[in-house]
Amino acid sequence: MYPGAFAYHRAKSYSEAVSQLRELGEDAKFLAGGQSLIPLMKLRLSTPGHLVDLNFIPETSYIRTNGALRIGAMTRHSLIAASPDVARSPILQDCAAGIADPQVRHMGTIGGSLAEADPTGDWAPVLLATGATVKTLGPAGERSIDIAEFILDAYNTALQPAELVTEIAVPKPAARSGSAYIALKRCAPVYASASVAVQITLSDHDTCSDAHVYLGVLGLTATRVPAAEEALQNGPVDGNTMEKVRQAVMDTAEPTSDMRGSAEYKRQAAGTLAKLAVEAAVRRARGEHVEVMHLYA
Ligand SMILES: Cc1cc2nc3c(=O)[nH]c(=O)nc-3n(C[C@H](O)[C@H](O)[C@H](O)COP(=O)(O)OP(=O)(O)OC[C@H]3O[C@@H](n4cnc5c(N)ncnc54)[C@H](O)[C@@H]3O)c2cc1C
Repeated sequence: MYPGAFAYHRAKSYSEAVSQLRELGEDAKFLAGGQSLIPLMKLRLSTPGHLVDLNFIPETSYIRTNGALRIGAMTRHSLIAASPDVARSPILQDCAAGIADPQVRHMGTIGGSLAEADPTGDWAPVLLATGATVKTLGPAGERSIDIAEFILDAYNTALQPAELVTEIAVPKPAARSGSAYIALKRCAPVYASASVAVQITLSDHDTCSDAHVYLGVLGLTATRVPAAEEALQNGPVDGNTMEKVRQAVMDTAEPTSDMRGSAEYKRQAAGTLAKLAVEAAVRRARGEHVEVMHLYA
């Protein structure tokens, strides 16, 4: 189906985009990669009268490594997946490389994904596990928002009217840290059925001194699993701990039955994904090079 009629506006800078959206009002939307917005418009589930295109604004797609890893909002998933600068936080590559298919990855942006806040999107659990910060620009100026305060609910963020995401900052991981993101998908071009993001830090004695565990697609937003983090912290990451993590994840997950599978199937899958993600994160924390693949079933 064709989208409804709309007027197209090409912004030359973020501040111009903010001004345009403020002037055009609630009938206007920013356009980034168009990989969520355009399908919704074609289905007439979204019918904006104006689109303000962010794609021609210079210096909005970048990956910088001075201190925190700074990723421009218009950076495509494919660029993140391929960037050697991202290697110190391999969880970002696990995520970016596993989003849909090459066409979607070459168009979709990290900023658009965060702004969309689709509960089945991959970036939220990953950026929560890494403790990222979202930089924004709006009519009231710039803001830095902790990712945990940025995502409010399904399709709902802390963005104010005419405010846009400009950058995502991922803190440099502590020494002996490792992270991993693993999703269960039915096939490549579809959203995940369940996913788990883990970031851990090991002490000199190889026990876990810090842990962050988040679930994706298993609730209305990405969900933290404090019981899994407690099970990991201050102890050896052995079989007993892994079983506690698996159980904590299964107890916390709130999946729903749908075309991707029954709630129970997803709950069991989440437990298994958690074990795999923790294992990969621990090996990476020890300095091993570990390729992480999503599970397709
Ligand atoms: C077939 C298919 C499969 C997909 N599979 C996955 C998947 O497995 N995992 C996954 O995570 N995603 C998936 N996606 C979504 C993809 O990641 C999109 O890139 C993403 O959801 C939206 O990013 P975008 O740049 O395309 O944003 P757009 O579609 O252009 O915009 C999305 C929304 O965000 C707003 N917006 C865009 N940029 C900004 C900004 N900088 N600041 C404020 N608001 C902004 C827009 O106004 C719009 O409301 C899939 C998409 C398709 C079409």
